[in-house]
Amino acid sequence: MKTILITGGAGFIGSHVVRLFVKKYPDYRIVNLDKLTYAGNLANLKDVENCPNYIFEKADITDGGRMLELFSAYRFDGVIHLAAESHVDRSILNPMEFILTNIVGTVNLLNAARATWGEDMQGKRFYHISTDEVYGSLDDEGKFLETTPYDPRSPYSASKASSDHLVRAYFHTYHLPAVLSNCSNNYGPYQFPEKLIPLFIHNIRNNKPLPVYGKGENVRDWLYVVDHAKAIDLIFHKGREGETYNIGGNNEWQNIQLIRKLCEIMDRKLGREAGESEKLITFVKDRAGHDLRYAIDATKIKNELGWEPAIRFTEGFETTVDWYLSNEEWLNNVTSGDYQKYYEEQYGKR
Ligand code: NAD
Repeated sequence: MKTILITGGAGFIGSHVVRLFVKKYPDYRIVNLDKLTYAGNLANLKDVENCPNYIFEKADITDGGRMLELFSAYRFDGVIHLAAESHVDRSILNPMEFILTNIVGTVNLLNAARATWGEDMQGKRFYHISTDEVYGSLDDEGKFLETTPYDPRSPYSASKASSDHLVRAYFHTYHLPAVLSNCSNNYGPYQFPEKLIPLFIHNIRNNKPLPVYGKGENVRDWLYVVDHAKAIDLIFHKGREGETYNIGGNNEWQNIQLIRKLCEIMDRKLGREAGESEKLITFVKDRAGHDLRYAIDATKIKNELGWEPAIRFTEGFETTVDWYLSNEEWLNNVTSGDYQKYYEEQYGKR
């Protein structure tokens, strides 16, 4: 039986990866390691928590000693590393958390893997999950390739870029069997409602203003989270050692267009008059250093591993809205407490 460590498995993407692996690979022992920060929520994994091949370990990746203990105890065969501070706005308010978790935490995991795997790394794999934001900002033309030079511009993307470089350095210097992927914006169930889509669903439902940065002209590529989890499964098992794969939805939206589309769907779902939700749109001061456009060229993963997004955006978007509307208790639980404090600091009392 193989033992696989998934870090950050109680978060948004991590919970989808844990669910996929626990269900698809009953012969793997899946250890979900998570600190349970504000973004980590075990309620995301209710449907797999009693599976015999699933174990949860509450731990902080910035604690190097604890990482070594856990690696020694479980003798992991593979690592899928998703744990991170992940929200750009929070990184602008408090960069140090990002440096500690995303950079120091990643190095602790790399060191623990090296120490326990020793010289014989045959069959082992360290898979680091990253973002397209490391590549910087695009104008109207072009897409990010795996070879695009790094040009991170926020503390979040700089900390992820740094961790990517360190993973590659361990591959080249110590022959640690690493593989990486950089993905565009994910959407879907279980995303913490500080991120655009769940935040705006929540606000529309509660008739609260929709704070749109600048003029809403920034462009992002959107991928359904389950498609990302499937790409992670493929890369973990079949990706070439030392390689990086870009993952994207081939689905670019200007923020304001995406928000208008969401308002239209919400009017329909909530039985409101057409145009009602759009009235909540409120333009606010732009995010500092806001990247204009991200777009991914995902040809490499398509050609090498045969991966393409399976869920069309219209379908994934409707499913996502339906999920948040029918999981009100989940939303209410995560939007109480600390979330309120953060929201007021970010957007003021409303
Ligand atoms: P998330 O914020 O929803 O989840 C992060 C998880 O990591 C949480 O469960 C949190 O408790 C855990 N965590 C944070 N600090 C920790 C620490 N010190 N020790 C242990 N656990 C800790 O994030 P997400 O959106 O699911 O992103 C997961 C990964 O995917 C991140 O590495 C992120 O950079 C990357 N990524 C995200 C997106 C996206 O659109 N969300 C796109 C591309 C890449």
